Amino acid sequence: MDKRARYRDFSGFLAELFPFKVQKISLNAGFTCPNRDGTKGYGGCTYCNNQTFNPDYCRTEKSITRQLEEGKVFFAKKYPEMKYLAYFQAYTNTYAGVGELKRMYEEALGVEDVVGLVIGTRPDCMPDALLDYLAELNKRTFLLVEYGIESTDDETLRRINRGHTFACTEDAVRRTAARGIRTGGHVIVGLPGEAEREKVIRQAGILSRLPLTTLKLHQLQLIKGTRMGQEYAGHPENFHLYTADEYIDLVIDYIEHLRPGLVLERFISQSPKELLIAPDWGMKNYEFTARLRKRMEERDAWQGKFFQK
Ligand code: SF4
Repeated sequence: MDKRARYRDFSGFLAELFPFKVQKISLNAGFTCPNRDGTKGYGGCTYCNNQTFNPDYCRTEKSITRQLEEGKVFFAKKYPEMKYLAYFQAYTNTYAGVGELKRMYEEALGVEDVVGLVIGTRPDCMPDALLDYLAELNKRTFLLVEYGIESTDDETLRRINRGHTFACTEDAVRRTAARGIRTGGHVIVGLPGEAEREKVIRQAGILSRLPLTTLKLHQLQLIKGTRMGQEYAGHPENFHLYTADEYIDLVIDYIEHLRPGLVLERFISQSPKELLIAPDWGMKNYEFTARLRKRMEERDAWQGKFFQK
């Protein structure tokens, strides 16, 4: 790791793969979620209000092609030469039969200037038959499968009603990576019971030992209309909501304990203001990364500084 780069970022990773600028376009392909419909559980994860996933250009009633075309218009105003990754983001994007999924993914890839797919899903929704198809797809196009890991601790996973264990995550990540597919993970920092620094840092070590290509961190946000929002209203003392400065220092500690080659895609989420209970930092992603880099320089921190194999 070149210490001056401080950490391996997603845009640098894409620049290694593509000779042009690439932007993700979020899609809502009309999937549901097995943790809501009773297949894996009812009620969903306690922090989830799926409205927070969807930008205005992506509405379920619109076809995948239309969502991509509208997304392209939105981004092409600024960068006419831009190419795109179709990001199957909302709900669980592998929750259908292989034939149906194939139709949707291929539709996205048929749109002009779409150069790959990012598929967000749960680790308990990745059957081998689908992975076999994705392995074949991976030979033809850029593919990243992104798993909602959220926590490496089974007690926390139970508490947030995830409906799967960390062993399930490990299994899905290993099966995916073993087929040569780039595999991503998403975790939430500061879930109830996980606020202490030592616990957060331990997670960085555990995730570093998985064959992940990319990782996204998000601060815990409490969202209106969620079970966790109600829990917070009843017992705010059970939650530790970080200030932005506190979170920046915690993220730096985390990064210092991560495997050097792991690509770090983002560190915060930005839920729409009208849905957010707390914390309200009013900070955009690029503002956060600018502050993070500045603080990393002040601390002379870099990814992997304290990583132990
Ligand atoms: S976070 Fe994902 S898995 Fe959990 S309820 Fe929401 S859509 Fe389903």
